Order: sequence, then C-alpha cells, then structure tokens
Amino acid sequence: MATQKQDKGTITKVSGPVVHADNKGSVNDLVAVGKEGLMGEIIELRGSTAVIQVYEDTQGLMPGEIVMNTRLPLSVELGPGLLGMVYDGTQRPLDRIKEEAGLYIPRGVKTNALDRDKKWTFTPTKKKGAKVKEGDIIGEVQENSLLTHRIMVPPGINGTLTEIKKGDHKITDIIAKVGSKQLTMLTTWPVRKARSYSKRLPVTRPLLSGQRVLDFLFPVTKGGVAAIPGPFGAGKTVTQQQFAKWCDAEIIVYIGCGERGNEMTEVLEEFPHLKDPKTGKPLMERTILIANTSNMPVAAREASIYTGITIAEYFRDQGYDVALMADSTSRWAEAMREISARLEEMPGEEGYPAYLSKKLAEFYERAGSVTTLGQDEGSVTVIGAVSPPGGDFSEPVTQNTLRIARCFWALDSKLADKRHFPSINWLQSYSLYHDATSEWYNKNASKEWVLLRKRTESLMQKEAELQEIVQLVGLDALPKDQQLLLFVAKMVREDFLQQNAFHEEDTYCPLVKQAIMIKSIFLVYDKALEVVEDLNLEGLRSDKDLAVIAGLKYEKNNSFNEKKAKEIEDKITKAIKKHQEVSA
Ligand code: ADP
Repeated sequence: MATQKQDKGTITKVSGPVVHADNKGSVNDLVAVGKEGLMGEIIELRGSTAVIQVYEDTQGLMPGEIVMNTRLPLSVELGPGLLGMVYDGTQRPLDRIKEEAGLYIPRGVKTNALDRDKKWTFTPTKKKGAKVKEGDIIGEVQENSLLTHRIMVPPGINGTLTEIKKGDHKITDIIAKVGSKQLTMLTTWPVRKARSYSKRLPVTRPLLSGQRVLDFLFPVTKGGVAAIPGPFGAGKTVTQQQFAKWCDAEIIVYIGCGERGNEMTEVLEEFPHLKDPKTGKPLMERTILIANTSNMPVAAREASIYTGITIAEYFRDQGYDVALMADSTSRWAEAMREISARLEEMPGEEGYPAYLSKKLAEFYERAGSVTTLGQDEGSVTVIGAVSPPGGDFSEPVTQNTLRIARCFWALDSKLADKRHFPSINWLQSYSLYHDATSEWYNKNASKEWVLLRKRTESLMQKEAELQEIVQLVGLDALPKDQQLLLFVAKMVREDFLQQNAFHEEDTYCPLVKQAIMIKSIFLVYDKALEVVEDLNLEGLRSDKDLAVIAGLKYEKNNSFNEKKAKEIEDKITKAIKKHQEVSA
C-alpha cells in the first residue's frame, strides 16, 4: 500500500491540459490536481515526473500547488439509475451539477454519478444457497417502464449465496452476500479496461433500423461497427436520430463530442423530447447521454469515449443489445493530437500521434456480440461518426476508422442538396456484413432478399455508368433496354431509397414492406424487359397504375401482406400490357 507521503506531490509545470508533478504512482492513476482538486489522470512517468492530463479547465493553476494521487484508476459507477442520465466525459451528472451551480460546470466538483438516496425495488432471481459466480444475474430492478436492470455478481466473486434481500434498497445497501462478501447494486469498473465476457460470438443478426437504405443495402450487425461521416448539412442529425429512435437495440449510449457548443446543445435539447415510437415513452428511458460541450477541456473528450463504451459493455453483460453512437470520433482524435503536442511527442500524419490508429482500433474492438459471463447473449454495436475537414475522406481519422469499421454510410451533401434523404450515397457506401447476415435476412425477411439486394447493387452501378453516356449523347440515343434500366433505377432511388423521416408511415419501414416494395420495382423491370422492343416507354413513365409504386412508402405499414403483393403485381401486369398494346 502506498503511504500518505508518496501520494502527495507538487506541480512543477502547467501546459494547457497537461500538468507535470513530482508525484510517484502508476500510469492511469487518478489524481486530484491543485487546491481545487481538479480531476486528472497520470498518462506518463518520466523519471521522477508524473505527466498528468487534466479533465478540467487548468486556468490559474500554478506550480507549487498540491497533487494528490488516489491510486485508483479512472472508473465509472454502474447500477440502477443510469438510464436517462446526461453525463460529462468523466461521468459527472450534468443535470445535477447544473442545478447546483448554474449553467457552467464548476471545477473540481465531486458528484456521485448515481443517486445515493433513491430506493429501488430489488427482486431476487436466485435463492439463498445457490452457487453463483461473477457475472451471474441474481436479481432485477424495474428501472423504468422500458427496462429491467439486471443485477450481477461483481467481478472476482464466486461462491454460495448466503443471503439475498428482496425489497426496496438504495444502491449502496447490502442486498446479498456471497460467502461472507457483501454485495451492493452499485459497482465500479475502470474505463480503460474492456469488461470480461465468456466468449465472442460471430455477428449474424442485423441491427435493424427500419431505414430502407441501411437495412436493405448497408446493414450493420448487432455487435458490428459502422462509420458515418458527417459533413455539415448532409442530414447527419436526422439520420442519427432516426437510428436512435428506431433501431432494435434495447439501450442507446450516445457520446457527443461537439466542437461547436450549439451542436451538443442541440442534442441535449432534442433528445429528451424524442419519443420511443413503439411505446410512446420518452426515448431517454433507454438512453444514456454523454456530452462534451465546447467549454469542456479537450482531455474530457478522451475520457468520454471510454466512459461511454464501459457503460455500454455493462448493459451488454446483462444480456442486452446496446447501440453506442460516438459523434464524432474526429473530435476525440483532435484531443489526442493536442495532448500529444503538449507532450512534445513525435507527430505522425497531419500532426496526429503515431498511436492514433492503435487507440481507434482498441476502442472499436470493444464492440462485439458475446456470450456473457452469466451465459446470456449480449452485444455492443458501435456507430462512429467522423467529421473529415472539407469532406475529404483521405484524412487520417477517416482512413483509420475505415480500416476497422466494416460498414460505411457515406452521407453525401450533394444528395442532401437535391433533397434526396437519407442522403446516403449508394455507390460510396458499403457493408461487409452481407455474407454474415444473408441467412438471417433470407429466413426472416424474404427468401429473395439477398438476390434482390444484389440486383439492386448492380442496377445502381449500371445507372451511374449509363448516366455518363446520357450526358454525352442524350437519353434517346440509348437502346430501349438501357432506357428502361434508367427508368427502373430512378424508381429505386425515388420510390425506395428515399425515405421521409417526418412522414408518419414512411419514417419506419418494416422488412416485409421493404421486401414487397423492392420486389414490385423489379417486377416492373422483368415484365417490361420481356417486351421491351414493343414497349412505349414514354407512356410507361407517366402511367397512373404504376404510380402505385411511388405511393407504397406512404401506405400503412401493417397493410403489407401477400394479398397486397398480389394486387400490386396485377396492377403492374396491367400497366405493362397497356403500353405494349399502344405501341404494337
Ligand atoms: P446535419 O446534422 O448534417 O447538419 P440535419 O440532419 O439537421 O443535417 O438535416 C438537415 C435537414 O435535412 C433537416 O432539417 C431536414 O429538413 C432534412 N432531412 C435530413 N434527413 C432527412 C430525412 N431522412 N427525411 C426528411 N428530411 C430530412
């Protein structure tokens, strides 16, 4: 054990968020810096100097002030009460701090992350005498109307349950004993360490969002990693909110590292008003927000990424599917760059530290689908936003992210300018989860799903090639089958890929509906292609019966069934026949 004397040191140098002190200790020790006790972490030891990154504003800090080493790693509090919380990067509850100190977060505030006074009704799921081991679920708390918080045996504890107490408890009350060890609902975990699980599982289940372009063309899996670039005005906010609202994860962890203050304020203001569309309950009941506003120092952005992923893993370990959205990881990388410059490290590409790719990889590797220690199945899916300056995807953060992410949703401001929403570019985007999810889709969505997806991909590729030719020679110069292809591709773009987030029905599209919609478009193609030489394309383009396809997206989601598919097919057959007859 460290003695009191060793734990106390003094500041020798202050350089922005980086402070040098003559403390002893280890890397990752949490320290209290200066007379205000600012929160910091030892990031390097150089001879007798501890290099500390401080998570709070260091203005006014002077050499000679005291630094106390807690000898504890930066950790998060875990337990009932997490859901609906808004935290800063080091898990200080923003609402509570705000109430206590006005709008700005005062320095050195020590607030518990979880409410110590609130009582939760604990219902045991294991009986006295049961053999338990770490990660096993021993009871439940109905945290809110959306989620049951499962209470697990903390790490390193195994044995016989000698006591378990049903009833209303505070998170620090003793609710059970394993052997002579006392268990509370509150546990902690060091954020830089990935939480343990039993086994990593292959990712085969898509994380569905009811957004056609994502579910059909570029699916991410439960436990997968997707990247999304966010050029300003390209519809990033709406896309992310649609994902948060509709994706079939049980918990959402949203980490915001906004550069401009208002960016994060927007999220903080909007999120609490969003309703879970399935239950009508506030979406916050299944959400944890971690916010770095622009007045928070850069080092806190670093911490927020780890705080967020650790909370996500904690719910995964309870057997839940968690979606973590980090917006944006570029801001985090910029923080790394700033700290690295203060440390006078050798800069790598564009001034980012050489360990940028390692750090990004370590973070994304914490995504995954697992068998938990309690033998349940849970997952953490990570959606990482990047904000490449000037939309240039060749810059280091985007490139390093793309190396890891297996799914890329390329938001395109040109599409947004044309009011094509969601403005996800179908030629630049990709998903490497197709093979992994094919079986699932064919079984749960439609037998033809994969085939239809492949046909769509190839159709859109060909459209792009033909459009270049059209620019040179005009549409009429193309053979009829190619003109037909362009007509069908336009239907795919406008009647299928475009989706209005603000339309009551169109905002969410179930898989059955997606399948019928795309199938109908290819039915037009196939039937028209059979008779293409005799077809009056002009007439077909303006046909009223075919307009039914354009209207499908607005029709009631629950009206899509086999009967409806047949009706659509009949209309299509009729329409094609009509225009064949006209030209014959
Ligand atoms: P960003 O966050 O990239 O600046 P937003 O997400 O706020 O952009 O989108 C800008 C505008 O584009 C929105 O106010 C909305 O009018 C429109 N928009 C974006 N996505 C959609 C969508 N899926 N459906 C309908 N409109 C959209």
